[in-house]
Amino acid sequence: MHAPASPTSFDDAQKLDRGANHLAPDCAGQNFYAIDRGLRGLLQLYLEPDDFRRLEPHFDRLGALAGGRLDELARTADKHPPELNARDRFGRDEDWIDYHSSYREMEAIAFGDFQFHAMSHRAGALGMDRPLPAVAKYTLQYLFVQAEFGLMCPISVTDTSIHLIRKFASAELQDYLLPKMLSGDIATMWKGTQFMTERAGGSDVGAIETVARCEDGVWRLYGDKWFCSHADADVALLLARPEGAPGGTAGLALFALPRRLKDGRRNAYRIVRLKDKLGTRSMASGEIRLEGAVAYLVGDAGHGLKQMMEQVNLSRLSHGVRAAAMMRRCLNEAMVCARTRMAFGKTIIEYPLLRRQLLKIAVPVEQSLSMFLYAASAMDRANAGSTEAAGILRILTPLLKFRACRDNIPVATGAMEVRGGNGYIEEWVNARLIRDAHIGVLWEGTSNINALDIVTRAVGKSRAHRTLEAALKKLLEEASPIPAAFRDRLRLALDRTLVFAERVAAEPALEETARLAASALYHVTSCILMTWEAAQPGTDPRRALYARLVLEHRLSARDPLGPRTGDWEHEAAEIIFSEPKVSLPQIAGLLER
Ligand SMILES: Cc1cc2nc3c(=O)[nH]c(=O)nc-3n(C[C@H](O)[C@H](O)[C@H](O)COP(=O)(O)OP(=O)(O)OC[C@H]3O[C@@H](n4cnc5c(N)ncnc54)[C@H](O)[C@@H]3O)c2cc1C
Repeated sequence: MHAPASPTSFDDAQKLDRGANHLAPDCAGQNFYAIDRGLRGLLQLYLEPDDFRRLEPHFDRLGALAGGRLDELARTADKHPPELNARDRFGRDEDWIDYHSSYREMEAIAFGDFQFHAMSHRAGALGMDRPLPAVAKYTLQYLFVQAEFGLMCPISVTDTSIHLIRKFASAELQDYLLPKMLSGDIATMWKGTQFMTERAGGSDVGAIETVARCEDGVWRLYGDKWFCSHADADVALLLARPEGAPGGTAGLALFALPRRLKDGRRNAYRIVRLKDKLGTRSMASGEIRLEGAVAYLVGDAGHGLKQMMEQVNLSRLSHGVRAAAMMRRCLNEAMVCARTRMAFGKTIIEYPLLRRQLLKIAVPVEQSLSMFLYAASAMDRANAGSTEAAGILRILTPLLKFRACRDNIPVATGAMEVRGGNGYIEEWVNARLIRDAHIGVLWEGTSNINALDIVTRAVGKSRAHRTLEAALKKLLEEASPIPAAFRDRLRLALDRTLVFAERVAAEPALEETARLAASALYHVTSCILMTWEAAQPGTDPRRALYARLVLEHRLSARDPLGPRTGDWEHEAAEIIFSEPKVSLPQIAGLLER
């Protein structure tokens, strides 16, 4: 008798699985960098050649980890959420949180091996002789989150806390905090977090009730923070109102709250309980009671919210990247399933209805990829001193946060549906992807709050949409291999979108359409980016097909009772799902028909 053949590759494993039990496999064992043609092409466009050459091995390594060990750890950590201990065995209020070993191993990968938290603040991470560019950092976040979402909150909020402390804290406070926070030694390093939301208000930050009292020259905080992710962080940045300061946002100051005092004792605040959450279950979110906790004023007491908004904006960008990542995972899962699951004698990808469902997943995935890479490259240029890039980043940040996080929800549900009933079962990753997707529309500002920021502030006050317009029109000029008629349609869509957004910004009666205007800005921007990218050497020309799909389905009027698709869409779907090596001249005709 022969022993059963053991699989030697992922493809072999898929065939064996299919033969064994008819069920489609998942993405386990894939390298999420290697299989991402869109990303690989775009990184050569958005990164300097030297950076790309030096960093690509790390993208590849993290891509393999995300499809392998990290994915296993994330699955386990989700099933073993953190637990709060309120007291030690002697009855002392030494509260602490226990994490499963799978979470600790992921922390070691993130903070120790890759040093996500420090990589854009100092040299040394991943062998680089200088801080990593934003494009590289967010690409690494994108790969990591395809496996694990929950831990990205502590990672990112440590990174953004370091930014705030470096920018606003006194030299003395920097000397105290930064060496610990920038350390790559996970046994001793200090991680950061941000506590803002209180029962009285999350969106309405001015309603914050926490009071700061200066007692014997030391600031002490009194109050309750209602949503505190990474509840046991070593240092939290938070907003509180110094006694006697005015009400509303004007009276809020920014403080750094260490978990331990300089003599090692617990600071005077308690984690009262942990939240029982729909998603992000691997990570601890809790409620905090401040009982005279020692805190350090950061920067100017009169500019607390303004300073904190820098952290909020960095987090918003990261949230957009995380949504893009989770959507990519959804697409990867859906594609593996669609190519292997049999129904009525065919693989399900052969059915036109299913292919249309796949397109509805694929298009927002590719939009968010272009949007986050372009936003990150704007951040790199802004950091190098470009005011134009700073303007672009100003509007792209809430656009990405608003739309990508919102798209993540139907994309996750769509991917579940492609897997069928198994997608609903917690043994498969789809259920977790659905649970995790929903937090994106809540933290760092709900969809409404981000849409209002886009329309009233980025468009109405900063006029950042006009800076974006100039950049996008230049990209359209540079996309000359794309048929002129298609580029003209995009130019027209851009003009109309900008006029619409300006009207909504100017007329209070139109506030209820703020989300519509914000969505249109996102769609037209991503359309133009994908068109430009498709025209560049080395990228995936199919990005132009995604652009046309967005133009037709998101930016053009349609008759709800007429047939929704034309012949070109069938051909586009065929090329998108079957011909990864297609050339731009082969698809150019499809952009005009
Ligand atoms: C799991 C989890 C973890 C979190 N972690 C943190 C954390 O670590 N730190 C932190 O500070 N916060 C955290 N939050 C809080 C989160 O940021 C807030 O929940 C969020 O900002 C919304 O605030 P809220 O819950 O008070 O809702 P509200 O502000 O009461 O909003 C309720 C609804 O009203 C809408 N709304 C409010 N104002 C307007 C307006 N002007 N126009 C139109 N609609 C409006 C909102 O869009 C929303 O739909 C966390 C939340 C969750 C669920």
